[in-house]
Amino acid sequence: MLNRTRVVDFVPEESGVLATAENLDTGERFEISALYLVRCDGAHSDVRRKMGAKFSGDVVVMQTQSTYIRAPQLLATIPKPAWLNVSLNPRCCGYLFAIGGRERWLIHNWRPPTGDLATLDRDRSIRQILGVDSTFPFEILAKEDWTGRRMIAERFRDRRVFLCGDAAHIWVPFAGYGMNAGIADAMNLSWKFAGVLNGWGEPAILDAYELERQPVTEQVSRYAMNTSFTRESLGSSLPHNLEEFGPEGDAVRARIGKSAYEQNVGQFCCGGLNFGYFYKNSPIIAYDGEEAPGYTIYDFVQSTVPGCRTPHVWLRSMFTSFGYFNDRQDDRTVLENMLTSLEPGGACIIEVLGKERLAKILQPTISTVLPDGTLMVERHEIFDDWTRVRNEWLLIRNGRAKSFKFHHTIYSGQELRDRMERVGLVAVKLHGNLDGDEYGPNAERLIAIGRKPASTHLKRRHTAAGDSQ
Ligand SMILES: Cc1cc2nc3c(=O)[nH]c(=O)nc-3n(C[C@H](O)[C@H](O)[C@H](O)COP(=O)(O)OP(=O)(O)OC[C@H]3O[C@@H](n4cnc5c(N)ncnc54)[C@H](O)[C@@H]3O)c2cc1C
Repeated sequence: MLNRTRVVDFVPEESGVLATAENLDTGERFEISALYLVRCDGAHSDVRRKMGAKFSGDVVVMQTQSTYIRAPQLLATIPKPAWLNVSLNPRCCGYLFAIGGRERWLIHNWRPPTGDLATLDRDRSIRQILGVDSTFPFEILAKEDWTGRRMIAERFRDRRVFLCGDAAHIWVPFAGYGMNAGIADAMNLSWKFAGVLNGWGEPAILDAYELERQPVTEQVSRYAMNTSFTRESLGSSLPHNLEEFGPEGDAVRARIGKSAYEQNVGQFCCGGLNFGYFYKNSPIIAYDGEEAPGYTIYDFVQSTVPGCRTPHVWLRSMFTSFGYFNDRQDDRTVLENMLTSLEPGGACIIEVLGKERLAKILQPTISTVLPDGTLMVERHEIFDDWTRVRNEWLLIRNGRAKSFKFHHTIYSGQELRDRMERVGLVAVKLHGNLDGDEYGPNAERLIAIGRKPASTHLKRRHTAAGDSQ
């Protein structure tokens, strides 16, 4: 990883790419020779230009006047504090984001594509969005005016050079779509590179990158743009009696509030964007003629049609080691995650060395010679009356040593059963091994089997201080 370094030029060659980089502190220039170049250099990517991959789309979708403020008195004026407040009124509409939760806020004043932001009275717009008068105190920490666009690069690849993230696509910034899509690009490319560089994938699989990602990002860009248009139309068609006192005004506000809520919950709970998309024309997917289900940015249907994301499957049963954490709260989280991942009625199996068994066999130091001649020295230290063991393993072979240290949380059979039941697992049974032998000091292992209740309405018991004990 080279920090404070800028790539100033590159030359694609037959067998690789030769890039010229510059150290930003010293100005020194040097060359980097690589098999591939992936440019994640953002919306202003000079590589895209160099590749001749033009951005095309909608040059202006909307404009925004963004201001970052400190307003210590604002929180007290908001009836229900939230991360995002949507302000809708006939004078000026905008979003108010909580930054830090107390004093600092980001305000986006959304404006239509036409109009001059430079002549817009920032102070007045902020006060109109916040619903405060000219005496309300706030301090501007930073400000930026920007134009929302929808632009997709015509090509994501030129021979050994690839574009990824905002270098390949930009759209109006709603709900994490930009970052999500950039990460999905990088994931898509990374496994293909792993295949090619490690020799288990043909270089031809890299052709699939652009064919898979470009259509999906094109779709996302349109979803984002349409979200912007819907938001704009809500703000520009507010009923005349929105601010009237009385039942009529209350009913109008409830209706508009519901629309704003649905619009925003939809855009932020973007399951379709994350899980619903479909790679339609990939040269490395074996299609079987089945039609993929449609999706929106919010909703999707899980499907095994080739090209869809592998469906999420509720597990019928899980088998896990447990207890290899430093504290019991982490173990509790493991149990809670297991419960969440199981289908109703599904089982989880936990296999550990229980306290009863360990108390019998654990010695401070155990040395063993492994079949390959490695000397393994185990040291165990018991803490807090058998709640924790510190393990240290030393492996010595041919005069070289490697050591591993970790903590291990210890449970008796009864303690483990209690903990499983506390997170909501039911019918917990203890066994001495997987054949169902009885558990006790002479058992090989402690095996606990619990079930997720068949009803999906789980009751979790929470104890405050005792939880992590
Ligand atoms: C106002 C605004 C709000 C946004 N809000 C959200 C949001 O809420 N959620 C969301 O997901 N997305 C949001 N986005 C979009 C999001 O920021 C981008 O999609 C995301 O940052 C893109 O990541 P990236 O790594 O592709 O590019 P960038 O974040 O632009 O990173 C590019 C990097 O490359 C470096 N670089 C550039 N040229 C060179 C060079 N020649 N050599 C070496 N390094 C170089 C730059 O210094 C930079 O660090 C928002 C964008 C804006 C403008």
